[in-house]
Amino acid sequence: MAAAQVSQELDDSCLRSNMENFNGTIRIYGRNAEPLGYMIRDFLHRSDIPFEWIDVTNNDEVLRQAGVASASDKRLPVCAFPDGTRLECPTIRQIVEKLGWFRNPSRAEYDVAIYGAGPAGLSAAVYAASEGLKTVLVERWAVGGQAGSSSHIENYLGFPKGIAGAELAERAREQVCKFGAEILIGREGVRGEFMPGKGVGYLADNTKIVARATVCATGVEYRRLNLPDEDRLLGAGVYYGAGASEAKLCHGGEDVFIVGGGNSAGQAAMHFSPIVRSVKMVVRGPSLKDTISQYLLDRISSVPNIEVLTESEVTALEGAQVLQAIIVTNQKTGKSRRYETRWIFICIGGAPNTSWAEEVGIARDEGGYLLTGPDLPNGGRAPANWPLERHPYFLETSMPGVFAAGDVRHGSVKRCASAVGEGAMAITFVHRYLSNG
Ligand SMILES: Cc1cc2nc3c(=O)[nH]c(=O)nc-3n(C[C@H](O)[C@H](O)[C@H](O)COP(=O)(O)OP(=O)(O)OC[C@H]3O[C@@H](n4cnc5c(N)ncnc54)[C@H](O)[C@@H]3O)c2cc1C
Repeated sequence: MAAAQVSQELDDSCLRSNMENFNGTIRIYGRNAEPLGYMIRDFLHRSDIPFEWIDVTNNDEVLRQAGVASASDKRLPVCAFPDGTRLECPTIRQIVEKLGWFRNPSRAEYDVAIYGAGPAGLSAAVYAASEGLKTVLVERWAVGGQAGSSSHIENYLGFPKGIAGAELAERAREQVCKFGAEILIGREGVRGEFMPGKGVGYLADNTKIVARATVCATGVEYRRLNLPDEDRLLGAGVYYGAGASEAKLCHGGEDVFIVGGGNSAGQAAMHFSPIVRSVKMVVRGPSLKDTISQYLLDRISSVPNIEVLTESEVTALEGAQVLQAIIVTNQKTGKSRRYETRWIFICIGGAPNTSWAEEVGIARDEGGYLLTGPDLPNGGRAPANWPLERHPYFLETSMPGVFAAGDVRHGSVKRCASAVGEGAMAITFVHRYLSNG
């Protein structure tokens, strides 16, 4: 292939998904504690796009700027782009299109399709594309995965002062683009069909992605509390994850609740503590000692406005339109207490989204995580229906040519660095598979 043609291909694959094309700040007019507004803030925050959130409540001048009649106007939220474009009550897909990131696959067939653009998928894409594989990376929400929602990652190698997850994700995205992988943002893989030497992934909008090898790096989703009003109050006081996009909306007189005792919950507590009156962590265990890294535990213990409510669970949520209060029950004493609050962030670990794998007979463990290599039944030897002479490679699932990396994989370590490492390693096995079957 001629050099000019290669360069044009790189330009085409990178620039159309290149967020550096966006300059300026998006102004978003809406009501605080409104689910769509939260989704937009979360998406833009993770995507490292500058935006200004403007609450329209009780402000005629702001209502006028937003071009709406009242704070209950159905056209809210309104996104005003620097070029003068206004999107009323937009979907994330419309925002992705407006930013110029929406694209369809440019090739009829890829060497490797990677699902999930968290640390594992981004790393797999960097290594695959830099090693000459025709690579597509499919992400249903924003680049960065769980890491993109972290306010401050302090234990990732090479960043002694720590780095915001969104910034780390944006740097990785640039690197993916630099090597010419295509990124399809806001597109969800929902189904797969696999045959020898070929995999076909179907996206939610029926787009088909054909690839010789597949890497599943779809991570995990936060679990829910499963309380009666949880869905109704989602984005209106109830949030999943560490709430990095929401901290700016909290103020000094408020009490914030964080459910969970892991590192993500601890980071969230540290992030909110300088901004609000108090942070209360609601944890099931008797202490944080066994669930959180020592460096975070030391910090949390030294911050006077963080309180840990141990052996406790949130047992009810209250509020008509928005969250107004929660009930916390101490599991040991059985006593319940009502706390008024507008903010609860739920960080209680994850569950993998791998029902597609079950449909095509890919082996999973009892929690739904994908089994790979030596973890496959029969001590990593060829599982039933395995069509090849060789045994599965280290990160290969029970389907030849389908690999798993990062948090979605059974036995994974649930850290950025290990997800990045597994993404890179998966590509080594993709090469082996493409060369030798
Ligand atoms: C708030 C928070 C703070 C953290 N802090 C740290 C830290 O300080 N240090 C550390 O080492 N680790 C930290 N972690 C853990 C770390 O972020 C994860 O271990 C890591 O992100 C896992 O990477 P992954 O790529 O395997 O999965 P994920 O990060 O979960 O990414 C998976 C991606 O796949 C996408 N996806 C899912 N399904 C589909 C589909 N069907 N089609 C397309 N895309 C799909 C998701 O939208 C997501 O973007 C933190 C996690 C959280 C939540």
